[in-house]
Amino acid sequence: MLLRRVLLSLLCALALFCAGCGEEYPYFSCDIRVEECQDEIYTGVAEFMGADPDMRPPIRTIGLDQFERELRDVDEEYFAGDDAWTRSLKLMGFLEEEADSFVEDLIQDRLTYSAAYYCGVESGPWICPVTPLITVIDRGGSTQEATWYLVHEVVHAIQEDQFGLSGIVDGTTEDELLILHSIVEGDASHFEEAWMHAVSGMPIDGRARWDELHANRRRWLLDAAGDSTFSFQTLVGSFPYAIGFEFMTGVILDAGLEGRAAVWGSPPSSSLAIMWGHEPPYALSNPEVAHPAPPPEYEFVFEDRMGAWYLFVFLRRLDVSEDIAWKQALAWAGDNFTVYRDGTSIAATWRIRFHSGSRDIAAAVASSVNRPNSVTDAAAFADGSDVYIIATENGSLEGWDVF
Ligand SMILES: [Zn+2]
Repeated sequence: MLLRRVLLSLLCALALFCAGCGEEYPYFSCDIRVEECQDEIYTGVAEFMGADPDMRPPIRTIGLDQFERELRDVDEEYFAGDDAWTRSLKLMGFLEEEADSFVEDLIQDRLTYSAAYYCGVESGPWICPVTPLITVIDRGGSTQEATWYLVHEVVHAIQEDQFGLSGIVDGTTEDELLILHSIVEGDASHFEEAWMHAVSGMPIDGRARWDELHANRRRWLLDAAGDSTFSFQTLVGSFPYAIGFEFMTGVILDAGLEGRAAVWGSPPSSSLAIMWGHEPPYALSNPEVAHPAPPPEYEFVFEDRMGAWYLFVFLRRLDVSEDIAWKQALAWAGDNFTVYRDGTSIAATWRIRFHSGSRDIAAAVASSVNRPNSVTDAAAFADGSDVYIIATENGSLEGWDVF
């Protein structure tokens, strides 16, 4: 398992999205270090979700310094930044040229935003001294904040009891990982809100209040996507808590706990479906190769699928307006991101396919990439409803230009 995938799969509560924190509502709270409080929360949430109330895992609270020590307790090679994944993201403009390694970037994101996390039964020993385990990070916040975060993690423990979580880290592409994360974190966000409101005597009834909660998170996320001070990691990592949250609330309100179990058993085909709120109204078609004829001196290193949300973030980084970037991302039909190596130099090719009838979108995306002063040095070529985005470390596109 790639460390970056394990890190991405950490089931967290985000300090960004603590709905009750700082508000004047008298939400339920208790001292989460006390056993009675832990039991009360676990039993209450489990009964609310139709689960076994006697499965509470151990709960610990640690300081931020201990969290950092535990996060960094991995091989130093991960921090070097000379891995092909980090280099290819820099080439494409997802990561700043001067950024550290992808893993370092991810650790910084976790240190900034993680408020609590859950280690499932099958989690490795890294940052999980025992499993299962709920860890709440003491960031000096109020009892109410800590209660909120613990409720979120309790939902993860219940999810594992009900459905198992082992599949969550098994996503084989970035796109799949984002789908699975959107289900898990969207579901946890939903029940965290639902239970906290219910136990505090303010049950959420009706879509209007849900819409309000979703709209706040969506606005935050879309604003952040247009703000270069937020890292790529943060934008990918917070998608499940905003758009995934909306998606799961939709499923639960429409089809109840049965519909929820169905989605868990059979996740949507791509993160695009999370953005649409349902399967897209056209067939998906992932290109089998990122480039039909890379120059012969380049060898294949790895391939991945990024999905529609990565495309949206990419377009926002290119200064495409939010409305247009969203519309273009919703026309995504598939992609293939492949990294090649020529000796010590790498090249990244991202072939994005839009649904048939989107030739104009493919052409528009190519011209956004090729615009002078673009954040990426990549070159793009439209071919029908496909666009090829190519970037090489040696700066030469000789032999790549097939159109
Ligand atoms: Zn979570």
